[in-house]
Amino acid sequence: MTSLEEGEVYQHLGMPTGVRVRQTPGDTIAEILWDAGQIDSSLLTPWQKINALNTFLIPRISFLLRGSAVAKVPLNTADSTIRQLVKKWLYLPQWASTDIIYISHRQGGANVPWMGDLCNVAVMIHAFRLLTCPDPMVRSIVEEAVQDVVRKRIARTPSEQDVATYLSSSLEAEFGREGGDLSSLWSRARNASRRLGKRISCRWKWCEEHREPGILVPCIKTPDHTIVTPTARTMLERTLKDAIRCHYAKNLKWKPDQGKVFEVSSKWDASNHFLPGGSFTRFADWRFVHQARLNCVPLNGAVRHGNRDKRCRKCDYANETLSHVLCGCKQHSGAWRHCHNAIQN
Ligand SMILES: [Zn+2]
Repeated sequence: MTSLEEGEVYQHLGMPTGVRVRQTPGDTIAEILWDAGQIDSSLLTPWQKINALNTFLIPRISFLLRGSAVAKVPLNTADSTIRQLVKKWLYLPQWASTDIIYISHRQGGANVPWMGDLCNVAVMIHAFRLLTCPDPMVRSIVEEAVQDVVRKRIARTPSEQDVATYLSSSLEAEFGREGGDLSSLWSRARNASRRLGKRISCRWKWCEEHREPGILVPCIKTPDHTIVTPTARTMLERTLKDAIRCHYAKNLKWKPDQGKVFEVSSKWDASNHFLPGGSFTRFADWRFVHQARLNCVPLNGAVRHGNRDKRCRKCDYANETLSHVLCGCKQHSGAWRHCHNAIQN
C-alpha cells in the first residue's frame, strides 16, 4: 500500500479515489468518446453503430457514474458529442428534435440515454440501495448518517417521514431553511430527486404500515403509479428509466410539427420493428424514414426559418410539403399509376 497525501489519488475500479479529490475521471470519458469516434468511422451500418454505442459505451459511462461524483461539464461535453453522432447515424439534421434520441426503440427512438438522467438515476439508486440494505449493520450506519443530515437541515430530531420529505427535495416549512447542508451523498440524492421529479414526478415515500422506505414513480400512460419497495429494490433502475423514456416520448408528441407523425408511429411496436436490427430495411429507407417522421426532409415547405419561397419546385403548388410530394403533386401521377397497377396486378 502506498500512503497518499491530501489531494493525491489512486485508481480504484477505474475511478480516482482519495481524500478531497476531484473524482471526475476525465481520461476515461475521453477514451469513451474516442471509441465513439472509432465506431462512427467504422464500416458498420447505422443501426449497428447505435447498437454498439448502447452495448459497449453507455454501460461504461453508467459504471463511472455509479462509483464517483462526476462533474457536469465533462458529462455535458460527452453528451453533446454523442447527440451529434446519433443524429448523424439517423440522418437527421442537427436542428431536429433531440427527444427522438432518448426514446425507446419500441416507440421509434434510438434508445440512447441522456447523461444527466443517467447521473441522477445512479445517485437515486445508490441512496435507495444503502437505505434498504439487507445487512442490519450497514443499514443502521446509513440511517444514522441520513438522520444527521436531515437534523442539520430542519433543526430538530427527524422522523422517518421527515427523511422521505427531505430526500424528495421538499422546500416546505423548515425544509426550505437556508444552510446546514454540506455536500454529501444525501444532498446529492436530494438534488437528483428534484431534477428527476421535475421530469417524471417521482418522490420518496415512507410506508407507516410496513415501516419501510419506497420510491413512488407515476406512470405517464395511465393514471396509476408504481411504488418501488425494498423487496423490489432491483426494479428501481428499470422503473425510473422507463418513466424517463416515456417522458421524452410525451414531450415529442406535444410538438405541433415534429410530433405529428410520431403520435401515430409510436403507437405500435410493429411500426418500429426495424430500429434495433435494421431488418427488412434498405439504406435508402433508413436515410428517409427518420427525416420523414420528424418532417425534416429538405423540402421548400418544411424550412421554418427565413421568408423562403415555399412553392413546389415541380408544379408551382403553393406549399411543397411531404404529403404534397408523395400524394398530391401531379408531376408524379405516373408513379401513382404504377403503384395502383402493381397492387391490382
Ligand atoms: Zn408539386
